[in-house]
Amino acid sequence: MERYWTGRGISSNKGLVEQLQNYGVIRSKKVAEVMEKLDRGLFVPEGAPAYVDSPMPIGHNATISAPHMHATCLELLEKKLQPGMHALDIGSGTGYLTACFAMMVGLQGRAVGVEHISELVADSVKNVQRSAAAPLLKEGALSLHVGDGRLGWPEHAPYDAIHVGAAAPEIPKALVDQLKPGGRMVIPVGNVFQDLKVVDKNSDGSISVHDETSVRYVPLTSRDAQLRGF
Ligand code: SAH
Repeated sequence: MERYWTGRGISSNKGLVEQLQNYGVIRSKKVAEVMEKLDRGLFVPEGAPAYVDSPMPIGHNATISAPHMHATCLELLEKKLQPGMHALDIGSGTGYLTACFAMMVGLQGRAVGVEHISELVADSVKNVQRSAAAPLLKEGALSLHVGDGRLGWPEHAPYDAIHVGAAAPEIPKALVDQLKPGGRMVIPVGNVFQDLKVVDKNSDGSISVHDETSVRYVPLTSRDAQLRGF
């Protein structure tokens, strides 16, 4: 009986994280902890199946990325999301990944989200306020801004970690410029067929790039093009 009730008591968000661990997508304890603390159910639109490993529409021709993509990007960036570090999330959408970054870099760090649809930014602030990351927003360690992410967010540069949540035709120069030597950027690049690229800035300022996996993201584009349906 006890086992039955214990099993029923496991929250679905926890179940999702365990599944990603079983599949080997989440390997780091820290990433598992943060994804467990931040309930994805608070970030998806009302009624959407929050704990299914798939992207979901969030309005304005945008989607929340699939949990395995969030996990993959967190794993790739983990060493650059240590307490006190600076992280930039371009195309922050629901705010989910920005909130994960903020939980990782903590109160001494800085997590900045940039999103060009103001309604999505307003929603993302509400999402974060209901979540475990609310104190970080309140204290200013986490901020969400309306802006064209192709320009980055110079105010808190240079960044140890930059994540781009929409596919760019090429790697934006402004983002490379805002990456700290020793820092890492994860960015999908391409049109229909896209590669998730990992861009490492070496200590001498030179850049090393490798392809991690094939992906499908919505385009990193102008607000008008996105609202027209690309
Ligand atoms: N990581 C987000 C992904 C949202 S989808 C999440 O999981 O919730 C990609 C987002 O990029 C969309 O919200 C879209 O509006 C935004 N976007 C596209 N082009 C942009 C640009 N030039 N500047 C800022 N945001 C952009």
